[in-house]
Amino acid sequence: MRRKVIAGNWKMNKSPNDVKEFMSKFPELVKDTAHDVILCVPFIDVMTALELAKNTNIKIGVQNMHYKDSGAYTGEVSPQMLKDIGVQYVIIGHSERRQYYNETDESVNLKLKSALSHELNPIVCVGETLEQREVGITKDFVTMQVKNAFEGISKEEVNKIIIAYEPIWAIGTGKTASSNDANEVCKWIRDEIRNMYGDVADEIIIQYGGSVKSSNAKELFEMSDIDGGLVGEASLDPDEFSKIVNY
Ligand code: PEP
Repeated sequence: MRRKVIAGNWKMNKSPNDVKEFMSKFPELVKDTAHDVILCVPFIDVMTALELAKNTNIKIGVQNMHYKDSGAYTGEVSPQMLKDIGVQYVIIGHSERRQYYNETDESVNLKLKSALSHELNPIVCVGETLEQREVGITKDFVTMQVKNAFEGISKEEVNKIIIAYEPIWAIGTGKTASSNDANEVCKWIRDEIRNMYGDVADEIIIQYGGSVKSSNAKELFEMSDIDGGLVGEASLDPDEFSKIVNY
């Protein structure tokens, strides 16, 4: 049985003071969950979040990183820096980074390899646009993204990676993929991983993301191939996010 992994993606929201307020409530609300709980916070919040997550079941992640250890890359943060302060997870290739910051399949692959080499747990995002879904190329497109992201990744490393299937048209729009449609693509991704790496496909965590809320989490997360979620908007409120975690 695969565990359920539920990660919040705070995007560009909350200052360190807001983190203190959130964490004054949230740990108590999720302390008894059987599921893995991750908060992917803005860089400026990482130290506060790590401090307040000590002695709780909450893991802290970030939303991006550079693939190099150090160097002349103004404004960037390296995997070595993240590892050094105790960050455990990193989102790679979120559609907003692909759309606004020129993230490509190639940079996603470099970051994925770099995260693994620093023992950071990557959450790699893939997903189609509305146009791609409408012309019927969702599976081909997602397969290509997965194959490009996993280029050069060994069989031993595969189950350290979390894949988040996030149809772009469902992110931040309030439109959720139906549980059957979401499960169909997550299963497709798992089958692609099986073609590439064999039975380790049964161990890899595949999340769904795209307007997950407390009202739809249970239906989505109980599907056969959906192992939890990557949650944006609804992870900003401790009550709502705890309901999703405890779905
Ligand atoms: C996300 O940021 O990855 C996401 C799925 O956002 P939302 O839940 O707001 O659609």
